[in-house]
Order: sequence, then structure tokens, then C-alpha cells
Amino acid sequence: MMNTFSYIFLIALILNFAAKMWLNLRHNNHVNANRHQVPDAFLDKLTLEDHQKAADYTVAKSKYGRFSMVYSTLILLSFTLFGGLGYLDVLWSTTNNDPVTTGVWYIASISLIYIIITLPESIYFTFVLEEKFGFNNTKVKTFIADIVKTLIIMTIIGIPLVWIILWLMQSAGSLWWVYAWAVFCSFNLFAIWAYPVLIAPIFNKFTPLDDPELKTKIDSLLGQCGFASKGVFVMDGSKRSSHGNAFFAGMGNNKRIVFFDTLLKYLSHEEIEAVLAHELGHFRLNHIKKQFALSLVVYFISFAILGLLLTKSWFFSGMGISNGPSNHVGLMLFLLVTPVFTFLLDPIFSFISRKYEFEADEYASKTRSSLLLISALVKLNREEKATVTPDPLYSMMYDSHPPAPIRINQLYEMRDPDPNKA
Ligand SMILES: [Zn+2]
Repeated sequence: MMNTFSYIFLIALILNFAAKMWLNLRHNNHVNANRHQVPDAFLDKLTLEDHQKAADYTVAKSKYGRFSMVYSTLILLSFTLFGGLGYLDVLWSTTNNDPVTTGVWYIASISLIYIIITLPESIYFTFVLEEKFGFNNTKVKTFIADIVKTLIIMTIIGIPLVWIILWLMQSAGSLWWVYAWAVFCSFNLFAIWAYPVLIAPIFNKFTPLDDPELKTKIDSLLGQCGFASKGVFVMDGSKRSSHGNAFFAGMGNNKRIVFFDTLLKYLSHEEIEAVLAHELGHFRLNHIKKQFALSLVVYFISFAILGLLLTKSWFFSGMGISNGPSNHVGLMLFLLVTPVFTFLLDPIFSFISRKYEFEADEYASKTRSSLLLISALVKLNREEKATVTPDPLYSMMYDSHPPAPIRINQLYEMRDPDPNKA
């Protein structure tokens, strides 16, 4: 039965879809319109051929993005207004388990269905799109092993977490959401700490950087920045793709900086130092801690809203649930339905992330050199076939990293002032 909430949801979903589609097409057209010429700022940095390859890759990815948008909207509608979640709820309620166990099975089965129906998308992305642009190195064996590993990890970690939350929802009284929030955040903190040593090594090999000449340079940089010297690793990213990356992960005694082996192949030692200085910037400026603090606030508000929604029968009946309110359905509905209403918050999070990137760039330019970071970024952009002419609005909405032209401009401005001019 459709109620007022169903119509509000439907309108929000349509607006959401239209806005995302419009942004996607803007980006697509902007990149296409700038395809014929390398922008002035990059004339000495990119060939026309590189620039056009980047444009073609971006256009192919945005076409894939449009298809993916239609597909995920159909999935969302099937689970909600078309009654998928309600149907599965009726199905599981015929088993004779206690409510918490039923809830865990219900959520596990939906997660499994979701993984299966989105599988064609990831197969297409890896083996068709990425393959076509020369990025894919994933063997079918690795692809299947990744899915199996993910399922095992989800079972080991996800099921106990869902079980605890559903148990709190049932047994902890009206303030259950405060306890659930605390459990969820502790769990997240543990995950951030454990990720580099427990989860990531299941998928990739991590080896300490061992080039002696480079190691000496890196050790001096690490000493300068106060970072534990055992914390720099090389990851075999080339096992899956030729995409390159570097990142800072973990907390406390598990913090580390990771370079993809693919990235090290095309950067000079000095450029590697500059990229490392950028990652050390994220560490020195406490970006992970700040991001975690922000997520505490976001999760608190989310759990409070969930606590409120669980008591409203319209939230359930409007989304195709015939069995009436229950904790497990409420939790699942909340996870599926809220992103439709919080779409306008996304640019705020993108903005914060880009601000951290600028701060880390500034740290790198002070610690090492902005010019070397610029040349590393240019190489990275070229190898990644990343467009240097993104649509500004699209970039503002989604980009976690500032687009290359803006970032490079800022880095030029961060250069030490010319002593002759002072
Ligand atoms: Zn960064």
C-alpha cells in the first residue's frame, strides 16, 4: 500500500536520479567538449594523445555510471516499493527462530542477494571496461577468490556485529540506539586499527620498501616527520590492475603508508619522496582521527533517526512491508532509504576530503618540494588516464581529491617565495 511516505520517497528518488544523471551528462559533455585540445596549463605536460585517452576513458566510465545508476535504482525500487524486503520478511517469519536470529538471517540473505545481483556490474567493469583501457590485470581466479574472501570476512565480522545490534534493539530499552551507536563506533575504530594488518593482507602482499638508496632517503624523511620507520610498505596492486596509488592507513602501532608497486614503477626517487611527504601530511595533521570524529557525529544522528523511525508504522507500510514494524526490517530499510534523502550532504563530505588533500599538499611542499609533487601528480594523471578537464560542478559534488589543474595551481602558489623578489 502506498502512503504519503511512499510518495515522498518516490519524489526524492526521482529528484536524486535526475540530479545525478544531469551531473553525469554535464561531466561527460564537458570532457568531450575539451577533448580536441590540451588545456594551456598542461601544454608542456601532456601530449594530445594522452589527453584524448583520458577523455575517452572518462566518457566510457560515465556511460557505465549512467547504466549503473539505472540498475541500482531498479534494485532499490524492487527492495522497497515493489515489496522485495516485505516478501523476504514474510518468508523468514515462517521459520521458528527467535527474532534476533531471524533478523540476522534476514539481513544476511539480503546482503547475499545484493552481492549476486550486482556481480554482473563488477564483471563488466573489470573484464570489459578496465580491460579495454589496458588497466585490468585481474585473473578470473583472483576475481573469484576475492568474492569468496569477502563473503568469509563478511560472515566472520558482519554477522556478530548485526547480531549485537539487533540484540540491543530488542533488549536495551528505549535508549538502545545510544548503546548500538557506541558498539558500532568501537567496531569502526577497531576496523581502522586492524585494517592494515588483518584485512588488507588477505587480499594483497605487503613488503617493506627495500631499495637501499631510496630507503635511506625515506628514513630521513620519516625521521623528520616523526613517523615510525617500519611503517612504509609496497603493495602488489599490479595483481589486479595497473592503477597506481599511495595511501595512509591504520592508527597507533598499526599506522602505515602504502605505495602500490605500480606507482613506484613510473615515479623517480625524488617524486616518491614528495608523495610520501604528502601522505605523512595526512598523518601529521591527524586527518584519519578528524574524519573518525566526524563519523561519530554522523552515526549518532543516524542512530537517533533510526530509533525514531522504528516506532512509526508508516515507515514500514509505505515501503511494502505487510508484516508490520520489526527491528531487522527497520534497519535494512534505513540503510537503503536514507541515502536518497542525504544526497545533498555528499558535497560537504567531498569538500572536507578535498580540504585535507590541500593541507597534505601544503605539508609536502614545506617538507620536500611542491615542484616534485607537481611532476608526480602529472605522471599519476597521465598513467591513470585521469581527465584534467572535469566538469566543475560534477567535481565539486563527488571528487574526494581536487582536480589536477586546481591542485597543481595551488602547489605552484605554495612554492617558496623567490628570494630575489623579497
Ligand atoms: Zn592525500
